[in-house]
Amino acid sequence: MASEYVCKKCNRILKGKNCAICNTTDVTDKWKGRVVIFNPDKSEIASKMGITIPGRYALKVK
Ligand SMILES: [Zn+2]
Repeated sequence: MASEYVCKKCNRILKGKNCAICNTTDVTDKWKGRVVIFNPDKSEIASKMGITIPGRYALKVK
């Protein structure tokens, strides 16, 4: 099972080892929890985490 990587800046769960949103390769596979945001405007979690783009995110990143 291949591990998934998460962007350290925006917490987005990535398909590869770079984040196209932040244009960074500063990623980690040490993360916990998974949240899917469909409507950032209407999501309490999204506003708490500062998420503005729909997608899959990690709740905690080491
Ligand atoms: Zn990012």
